[in-house]
Amino acid sequence: MAYDVIVVGARVAGAATALLLARRGVRVLTVDRARFPSDTLSTHQVQVPGVARLRRWGLLGELDAAGTPATREVRMDFEGIVLSGRFPPYDGADALYSPRRTVLDTVLVRAAREAGAEIREGFAAEELVWSRDRVVGIAGRQRGGARCTETAGLVVGADGKRSLVASAVGARRYRERPIATMACYTYWHGVPMAAGELYLRPGRAVAAFPTNDGLTMVYVAAPIAEFARFRTAVEEHYLASLDRCGDLGMWVRAGRRAERLRTTPDLPQLFRVPYGPGWALVGDAGVVMDPVSAQGIGNALRDAELLADAITSAMARGRPPDAHLAGYHRRRDAAVRPMYDFTAGLAALDPLRRAQRYLLAALRDRPAEADRFLGAFAGVTPIRQYRSPRTALRLLGVRGLAGLAVAAAGGRLG
Ligand SMILES: Cc1cc2nc3c(=O)[nH]c(=O)nc-3n(C[C@H](O)[C@H](O)[C@H](O)COP(=O)(O)OP(=O)(O)OC[C@H]3O[C@@H](n4cnc5c(N)ncnc54)[C@H](O)[C@@H]3O)c2cc1C
Repeated sequence: MAYDVIVVGARVAGAATALLLARRGVRVLTVDRARFPSDTLSTHQVQVPGVARLRRWGLLGELDAAGTPATREVRMDFEGIVLSGRFPPYDGADALYSPRRTVLDTVLVRAAREAGAEIREGFAAEELVWSRDRVVGIAGRQRGGARCTETAGLVVGADGKRSLVASAVGARRYRERPIATMACYTYWHGVPMAAGELYLRPGRAVAAFPTNDGLTMVYVAAPIAEFARFRTAVEEHYLASLDRCGDLGMWVRAGRRAERLRTTPDLPQLFRVPYGPGWALVGDAGVVMDPVSAQGIGNALRDAELLADAITSAMARGRPPDAHLAGYHRRRDAAVRPMYDFTAGLAALDPLRRAQRYLLAALRDRPAEADRFLGAFAGVTPIRQYRSPRTALRLLGVRGLAGLAVAAAGGRLG
């Protein structure tokens, strides 16, 4: 075999996997049909745990040098109940970063190359190469070039939610949910933000975060059922959504749109079994969730690390690179499942229930608890806590909990 590992896809999942493997001496080839810097249809909040990984890998300085603002404060407006605070620290990081994908993906590709990974840009993988029931390589071509074949002990699909590798191996899907939202976003000059802002309204979620070049990214999520109507007058529906968010619409209208509006209904929610003989999946190819909670990049960075650990632990014992991938599958699912379920709930864009209003109002008056709660959205505080009776008791006290029980039973409140 010419390589130990071939990775198809060189964005956050693929370049991170290649980087970590190459730093540990693994012979890696990574191919991507894109050439970097390259944008993609995605906004780019990297949650605090993802930032901690980039810092640990020595890449945060490059994002800072590219003028990526660090966002430490966040303001979340839940149908008028506003929580403001700071993200709790996680493994040496205390900020969310929102680097344009032209910046982040390029930093990762460069670092992987510097670590010794071979990276072929402008190269499309066309099919997998098999030996009996085992994947042993890829066939594809450089743009305008002749078809060629490359072989490896393991082929990793980091090729996104419409993964060629996943469909070629027939990776089984599970926990799949119907598409819930559509997305529409763009970039604005002259809309400075002191903090990241999130607004939840019945039928809408809106986010505004500062990014590179002094721009502000403003994102609208709407129910997928509205897509046909939304696309008839995209800017009008987009701005009308912002008008439902305090004075955000006013501030944005006072700014200047810097780029075209991007709109997509292609937001699946599903898991795939991420391994088999000679193949593995990482990033969106393996698990994709609705972007409303902005977790996909952080997930990809975490899963790249889990996958690289599994590959190198097998190789260190003289075993094939796919020998320990059942453990990767277990660890990935344990890490992602609570946020996947939480995200699916958010993506429903339902009105708040009475009990949720009650809890949010209690958090509003307790800044330290509000920070912890905001940390749950950032993937720092375990999201499960907010389903536990013990947390409700801590936040509300015995009398408050009794009031909540009355509210939940449809009594006096709301
Ligand atoms: C509208 C929207 C907004 C989002 N906002 C956020 C956010 O704010 N924060 C966040 O964390 N996540 C966000 N996400 C999710 C995030 O974009 C994804 O989770 C992330 O990009 C997944 O990275 P990846 O490397 O797995 O796949 P991708 O980024 O999809 O990259 C796959 C790469 O594989 C390459 N490729 C595919 N097939 C082939 C082939 N046959 N041969 C060669 N190359 C191939 C492609 O060219 C591509 O470069 C958003 C997603 C959407 C759609």
